[in-house]
Amino acid sequence: MDSLNNTRNNAMRDIPISTKVQDDEMDAIDVCSCGNGQKAVYYCFDPKPDCEIGQIYFCDQCKINHLSHASILLTDFKKKYINEINKSFHLIDVTFSNAQAKMDMYSNFLSQCQRGKSILEPAEKRRDPLEDIKKLEQIYEQTKRLRDYGESFFQKNKVSDLNKINMKFRDFVKIVQDFEYISEMNDQIIWDCYQPAFESDFEFDLSSLNTEEKELYYKFKIQALSSRVKKLEVMLKEHNSVKQCIAAIAVQLNIEDRIKGFGL
Ligand SMILES: [Zn+2]
Ligand SMILES: [Zn+2]
Repeated sequence: MDSLNNTRNNAMRDIPISTKVQDDEMDAIDVCSCGNGQKAVYYCFDPKPDCEIGQIYFCDQCKINHLSHASILLTDFKKKYINEINKSFHLIDVTFSNAQAKMDMYSNFLSQCQRGKSILEPAEKRRDPLEDIKKLEQIYEQTKRLRDYGESFFQKNKVSDLNKINMKFRDFVKIVQDFEYISEMNDQIIWDCYQPAFESDFEFDLSSLNTEEKELYYKFKIQALSSRVKKLEVMLKEHNSVKQCIAAIAVQLNIEDRIKGFGL
């Protein structure tokens, strides 16, 4: 499977939102609330208590009232917004596409692992790639809608709404990092996610597995067996040292003959 090509195609499938500032942009900008008739071309993106209500967007003259506030030209903010949103969305898109490609490769095998896992007591919490890919898909769809939703704010210069969308995108990018392991799926990750299923008596439906999947199954069964042997060896060692300890105490107490009756 050519997963790299697949990834590239998927990454290209979405066309970014408007990438150039419109010529008639100035017309769409509202007049400042101060009443001097000038356009409110600035956006105060860190309003302080002394920032007057309704002055989140302001004109050149009103800039004097916002000297200690972080402000930016609406057009500059919009350029910044487009760059950041496209970058964030691309990252989410690529992570999802790569994860999808890996899941296409492993889904049959993983669904059997999942069946094995579901019959076991959830003694320890492990990653669940089949559930995680669903969450990742939801995030992908959500961010796509959010980006499209931002388009109308973009056209109407509602920069404070765009700012909120941008913040949400930053949160999503952080969340998505947690799902990157799916796009790196390999034997070791599958083992880490489903080890107890291979250590249990659960048997895979071998007739539904192809040759490669069968090989992987046997590899994991052998791995599980040797990990059980190792655990037993540790237990035996502990048992022997306890036995030695009791024997030593028995010598001290002069009760060696009596403890022999317990098989020690
Ligand atoms: Zn301000
Ligand atoms: Zn003004």
